[in-house]
Amino acid sequence: MTPDPSIHRGPDLDLHIQTPLIQSPILSAGQQEVWLKMEAFQPSGSFKIRGIGRACTTYAQRGAARFVAASGGNAGIAVAYAGRALSIPVVTVVPQTTSVKACDILRLYGAEVIIAGANFNEANRFAQSLLRPTDAFIHPFDDPHLWSGHASMVDEIKASNIRPDAIVLSVGGGGLLAGVAEGLNRQGWGHIPIIATETYGAASLHASLQAGKLTSLEEVATLATSLAAKQICGQAWEVCQTNKVISARVSDAQAVKACEAFLEDHRVLVEPACGASLALAYSRANELADLRKIVIIVCGGATMSPQMMATWLEQTSSARCD
Ligand SMILES: *Cc1c(COP(=O)(O)O)cnc(C)c1O
Repeated sequence: MTPDPSIHRGPDLDLHIQTPLIQSPILSAGQQEVWLKMEAFQPSGSFKIRGIGRACTTYAQRGAARFVAASGGNAGIAVAYAGRALSIPVVTVVPQTTSVKACDILRLYGAEVIIAGANFNEANRFAQSLLRPTDAFIHPFDDPHLWSGHASMVDEIKASNIRPDAIVLSVGGGGLLAGVAEGLNRQGWGHIPIIATETYGAASLHASLQAGKLTSLEEVATLATSLAAKQICGQAWEVCQTNKVISARVSDAQAVKACEAFLEDHRVLVEPACGASLALAYSRANELADLRKIVIIVCGGATMSPQMMATWLEQTSSARCD
């Protein structure tokens, strides 16, 4: 758990690692191969470091003296990790709902943690009020640098000679979706469908597709907190027009159960935001029928603990048979 305090990288180097792409012997069945892109193995615990590493490196080159983030989740943790690697101070403003574990991880990477506000919007407002001219504000999903950093995972898939018939990923604010689409398009794979998974309580992409326009949810309520964006970013909506995006939804219970099964089967602990994508494969969802080769982005989750999993399994057990 203790990060290497000597992580120092030049501003020209990537802060993320190349992750394994492995076939799941358990999720593959019959003619169908299910491949796992193991972003859970990123040093910050999630795929976020790909894009956030790219953004932070770029802003550092432009002279940023400090990084400011408003996230107690994987985005904030990736910023803290990047700041440490680039030797640039980081301030993360997190809402009061943020777990002790998340705050501990942020501080472990040397970030200053400010607890402000009852929710993300309030924390974000406070973070904005702190900004000095020499600061760079690092958005969790709505920044072209993030998308192009996230796109690198598709380059790695292509380089491994696996040609998927579909890519399964989870959608919160849609930065991952925008990045994967950018990667597919630049690899000449723009025709490959993206199965964009959300939980019912945070289905902002689904709502926009239903409405035929970018739409904001009144409320989000899900255990998959990394998916709890009320609205997807404009670029994610753009991708729905240019690429083949198929919306899929799962329940919190399915997402948490998938985390448990994945731990059992692959010995890796991920959070429900990631479990949502895995749940599609575990439930042999219709969206996956007839596809021969599927790549699931195992997006990870740094703040998940065995205890949280046990609590959530308990909480959702009444709804477990859906
Ligand atoms: C951020 C995050 C997501 C959602 O990504 P967006 O770019 O916001 O759509 C999904 N899973 C995990 C683990 C995340 O950290």
